Amino acid sequence: MVPISSDCVFLLCAPCLAPLVSLATGLKIGLKTGLKTGLATALLPAALLLTSCGAVHKFSGSAPGQRLQVVTTILPITIFTRAVAGDCAEVMPLMPSNIGPHDFQATPDQLVRLRHADVLVKNGLGLEVFLDKLIANADNPRLRLIDSSQGIAPLASAGHDHDHDHGHQKAKAKADAGPNPHIWLDPMRAIQQVNVIRDGLIAAQPSCRTKFTANAASYTAQLRRLNAELAQQLKPYAGKTFVTFHDFTPYFAARYQLKTNFLVDMPEENPTPADLRRVLQQVKASGLRALLSEPQLGNSSFEALASDLGVKIGRFDSLESGPPAAASQGDYYIQTMGRNGDALVTAFGG
Ligand SMILES: [Zn+2]
Repeated sequence: MVPISSDCVFLLCAPCLAPLVSLATGLKIGLKTGLKTGLATALLPAALLLTSCGAVHKFSGSAPGQRLQVVTTILPITIFTRAVAGDCAEVMPLMPSNIGPHDFQATPDQLVRLRHADVLVKNGLGLEVFLDKLIANADNPRLRLIDSSQGIAPLASAGHDHDHDHGHQKAKAKADAGPNPHIWLDPMRAIQQVNVIRDGLIAAQPSCRTKFTANAASYTAQLRRLNAELAQQLKPYAGKTFVTFHDFTPYFAARYQLKTNFLVDMPEENPTPADLRRVLQQVKASGLRALLSEPQLGNSSFEALASDLGVKIGRFDSLESGPPAAASQGDYYIQTMGRNGDALVTAFGG
């Protein structure tokens, strides 16, 4: 949890805002009715006092009666945050759930949402490359930032023949490919993310500590069950390799003693002839029955490759995006991960 600033900004501080509105109205009426100097002079010190309301009403979460306003980035982060928040905070995704982090372009609407938020929750590890600029432009000094990757040891992005990382920084050398950000696809790391979110929300709204703690415990118990089911389901395939379209599965693979390969680092990339050769050899060597594409992507090169290899196309959902209803469907992450497990079993020929 990194509090950017704990100062109260009067624009969103309801108890401060109400007197200011009436003061402003009073001033307006005063000016209109010719009471300019006297009334304005009388009200000005009070107005100044209230605009520096940080001194009289320090921000510690939202004002009484107003729920904590939380903004989230990618779909899994929205789902995790909603699971913890319950009815004790209002959670609004910054990005539409059908747009993944690789394609996201901020709009003025999102800037306004961030300007009015108490807390921003992100995945972290460089996934949300658009965020720093957006935060700077939002000019919301009391915004608290929860980086859900805090304390999670990252794996490096594989890099392969590409010379950039998830941050689209093409100039970066492949040796400096940066951390792989897809931590949410390992249910045990997802538990860590949920706990970081819980602690961050408690710090922002201490009065909701009991609810946040209970909600997080209930959701992490479900994640633990999911992990146990996947571990059991995938145990017979330990050591086997599966191939996805982009580089999102190293954490998942490591958790279940699997190996993983991918066609491209980034979903919007076109594979090179070397990429195609590498995957071709991999599939032939491993006897894989299917390549695992992503539901929200075109993957036409991937499908052509599968057809050349005479293997099927399965689906492994990266959860980077989903249908519009997904963000408010509490079990969406768990259901989708269960389907990913089934798809893998099929791809391994089970
Ligand atoms: Zn990705």
